[in-house]
Amino acid sequence: MRILVVEDEKKLAGFVRKGLEEHGFGVTVSHNGDEADTLLRAEPFDLIVLDIMLPGRDGLSILKNLRDRKNTVPVILVTARSEANERVAGLNLGADDYIAKPFYMDELLARVQAVLRRTSGDQLSVLRAGDLTVNLITRKVTRGKEEVVLPPREFGLLEYLMRSPGRVFTRSQILEHVWGYSFDPGTNLVDVCVQRLRAGIDAAGRESFIEAVRGVGYRFRKLEGV
Ligand code: CA
Repeated sequence: MRILVVEDEKKLAGFVRKGLEEHGFGVTVSHNGDEADTLLRAEPFDLIVLDIMLPGRDGLSILKNLRDRKNTVPVILVTARSEANERVAGLNLGADDYIAKPFYMDELLARVQAVLRRTSGDQLSVLRAGDLTVNLITRKVTRGKEEVVLPPREFGLLEYLMRSPGRVFTRSQILEHVWGYSFDPGTNLVDVCVQRLRAGIDAAGRESFIEAVRGVGYRFRKLEGV
């Protein structure tokens, strides 16, 4: 799941990014309201954590633009203690929840998960292939009756590939989406992560769910009858 964090306090934005990434979410950060508004017209996100006071366009105006375009992406407003009026205005404009600064990361995470649970049906939040089930909200992965515990990067990689079964993704695409790198750090990060993922989800002696496409990258294949 991809979350857009719009927050001009760089330290706070970094802290939120780290906390969300540790829980396997893909995170894009924007420090400017106009930039965030442009991003939201160009890319789909699964949720937005939206500060109100921003350089450029403010958070309420970004939210209003979204809802005017009939974009229903869930929005959690981040408000200062003094912004009670803005909070009410935001909820009236169609925000799904708010959190007041200062907050604990655990509280933001709980709100993110609650909003995602409320706004997405089972179809959107659970990916299935054979006996492999991935719940994108609780982040629980099961193979048959057994729970598979995956670290955040492996989970992010599985989700990314599994959302588009059969489609081949290059290492650069994977690096950018799962690690947020816009460059290739020249390591075999992706390949090592694929190996760990396979060890977690593949049954011994069976074909792997993750197929290497020589010279290109990787894809998820739906194995029948497993
Ligand atoms: Ca601010």
